[in-house]
Amino acid sequence: MLISSKVALSISLAVAVIGVTATAVTVDRQRTERRREFTSKSLEAVELLALTVAPSVAEHRHNEVQDALDNIANFPDRFRDVRLLEVIGEDGRVIASLDPTRFNEPAAFAEGDLKQPEAAARFEPTALRVVVPLVVTHRLGVLRATFDVAALDLSVQRQQSQAALTVLATSLLLGVTLHLMHGRLVARRLVRLADSAHKLGAGSLKERAVAEGDDEIAALGRSFNEMASALERHTEELEHLVAERTAELEAANARLAALATTDQLTGLHNRRYFDEHGGRAVDVATRSGRPLSLAIVDTDRFKSVNDRFGHPAGDEILKDVARVLRESARKSDLVARIGGEEYAILMPETDAAGALVVAERMRAALEASKHPTVPELKDEKITASFGVATLGEGRERLEELTAGADAALYASKTSGRNRVTLASPPTAPATPAAPAAPATPVAPPDPATEREEVRS
Ligand code: GH3
Ligand code: MG
Ligand code: MG
Repeated sequence: MLISSKVALSISLAVAVIGVTATAVTVDRQRTERRREFTSKSLEAVELLALTVAPSVAEHRHNEVQDALDNIANFPDRFRDVRLLEVIGEDGRVIASLDPTRFNEPAAFAEGDLKQPEAAARFEPTALRVVVPLVVTHRLGVLRATFDVAALDLSVQRQQSQAALTVLATSLLLGVTLHLMHGRLVARRLVRLADSAHKLGAGSLKERAVAEGDDEIAALGRSFNEMASALERHTEELEHLVAERTAELEAANARLAALATTDQLTGLHNRRYFDEHGGRAVDVATRSGRPLSLAIVDTDRFKSVNDRFGHPAGDEILKDVARVLRESARKSDLVARIGGEEYAILMPETDAAGALVVAERMRAALEASKHPTVPELKDEKITASFGVATLGEGRERLEELTAGADAALYASKTSGRNRVTLASPPTAPATPAAPAAPATPVAPPDPATEREEVRS
């Protein structure tokens, strides 16, 4: 049940109970008052009649007494309420009555009335009994009358019912009015406020309550809105903070990822990156049947450079080599430093002939490159040896491709360095003992090169 209905019902019931009680008390008082008035009027009338008939009774002119009573009986409209009217002599016999046949009959219940010392009136449930002594010089008897009070009480009762009905109708009207007013001023607004709170709780942070007016519910609405604004503000700040932190974290992760996959000295990709991405590129090329080649590059006699000019100078040269390789490669090629003075260039969509062209271009560029940061080198050239292998039958994984390129590189080293060698097909593996057989060096061997220990 709605609050407004409960309030309305309670107040209406209270008003009805109070109203009916008040009406009952008022009506009771009215009845008493009306009876009092009726009694005094009736007593007055009977006393007047007693005065009128007393002389006739004193002189035993009973006919005159009866005539007086008959006069009254002849006007039943004017004396509607008179039920009994009789004159009783001291001997207890009826001298005159509205019912003339009762003449001289013993009066019923006259004993007490006869002894009545003075005029008296008393109420019985439906009647008013009046007894007035007849006195001229001495007591002659009594004039006794009975008045019907049913009509009197009936009118009071009617009044009572009407008043009760009015009270009930008023209570009903009050109840309905209260219900409507409470619903409009309180209940509906509270329901709307609850609805706003529900929406806010469900995440609609823009939700605001209606807060017009200056009553308590409007104040509640304003407090709710302040709370919602604070919540919205805090949530925005929190979201902003989270976004900031997330961006910082993503940037840190990106830096970490770059660090983990970048070679710190040269800025090229490192061995880890080469293994991961190279492995995927080889798988894709193998599945799709597209060409892919790998060149492994090893700087020639680099130990001697370190030994003569120092490790930092060696680092500078490694950076130069990296830059030249990067600049000579295509964008789609993957250039990585995979060991101390060793590099790899993975060339997608490139067959053996194309790879040899690229490798030769790199070799020539390295040979021609200058090293201004290591002036101690003077005109000494820094060269590198290349081993090239291409995907094909029996060489379908990165490890197999690398092994092929390594074998070719070995051949380049053993056949004089500063050259490019293409790995022979996998069915005829390259061996250090027979470098010419598995590999095809494409750069002429340097006649000055001694056969010595090759790359480790
Ligand atoms: P080869 O032509 O047969 O390859 O001769 P090499 O001297 O280059 O080969 P070796 O394997 O004997 O020596 C490689 C040298 O590379 C040894 C090592 O000190 C040097 N090296 C490896 N990593 C770095 C590095 O990061 N910085 C410097 N400065 N030198 C390095
Ligand atoms: Mg070397
Ligand atoms: Mg080496």
